[in-house]
Amino acid sequence: MMQIFIPLNFLGFVYREMKGSLANIEKMFSLLRVAPGIEDTSDAAELQVKEGRIAFEDVHFAYRADREILKGVSFTVAPQQKVAIVGASGAGKSTLFKLLFRFYDPTAGRITIDGQDIRTVSQSSLRAAIGVVPQDAVLFNQSILENVRYGRIDARDDEVMAAIRHAQLEDFVRELPEGVHTMVGERGLKLSGGEKQRVAIARALLKHPPIMVFDEATSSLDSRSEQGILGALRQVASEQTTLVIAHRLSTVVDADVILVLDRGRVVERGSHSQLLAEDGHYAGLWQLQQEERRSAADTNQAGR
Ligand code: ATP
Repeated sequence: MMQIFIPLNFLGFVYREMKGSLANIEKMFSLLRVAPGIEDTSDAAELQVKEGRIAFEDVHFAYRADREILKGVSFTVAPQQKVAIVGASGAGKSTLFKLLFRFYDPTAGRITIDGQDIRTVSQSSLRAAIGVVPQDAVLFNQSILENVRYGRIDARDDEVMAAIRHAQLEDFVRELPEGVHTMVGERGLKLSGGEKQRVAIARALLKHPPIMVFDEATSSLDSRSEQGILGALRQVASEQTTLVIAHRLSTVVDADVILVLDRGRVVERGSHSQLLAEDGHYAGLWQLQQEERRSAADTNQAGR
């Protein structure tokens, strides 16, 4: 009994520690295939992804009964569309993603993928269909090549190299002492936030799931790194249904649809130019970020 109890208890601990952070979803996937408290139904089918259309239909959710976090969220992501979610801290952006992975079930409403309610399909098939680019990718004490191969363990070297190229990591790798064989991770070369995120993108490109979820890093990036990520993300989004939690509005400019989330509700939706013309919430956020950029540039100028 004790032998069973300890590992289960430990997994429960790992699960609780990690559930708090979307950044760790990738790590959690490798440790734990299903979420405690969320059960597959006895007749759970395998998710059949034909197009990759995602629909949130009047979704409500509360972590605790006395505080509703999502208050009737509805939106559709068409196949191969790129949809960006923006909004203030605490608006519920990460919560939307946690529901899509079925770490929790909505308290009302439903989420479908190609018409199948995600509660009716097996969790393993659901998660196999979704690729995650977390804010802070976990790197193992192995070479860059092996770290990227983690996206699909049986990938051939040429496939891994193609993913590295498409994730715009090639120039970075070329400058390393042993190229793709350079060791990274805790005991190897430390990568910057932007480089790590591109490793995560390369993994996701290799896995090639029909649906891609991207949690943009909040940390500031230099503009070269930012351009690299934007280019890599465009590669991903050109073929897969892509949902992005965007912190920098530069990432969302070319999104097909931008959803502005405010205190658990979608308050605006449209393209960048449509939302600027509306002159509402999004236009205000945009103005603010432009001003921040200008003052950062002025500070840099003054420092020279
Ligand atoms: P950020 O941009 O800061 O990441 P967000 O828009 O992603 O914010 P969420 O992480 O979805 O916001 O959180 C929405 C609300 O839900 C917050 O008020 C948060 O405190 C609360 N919340 C998040 N996770 C939990 C949890 N595990 N238990 C209880 N409340 C939670």
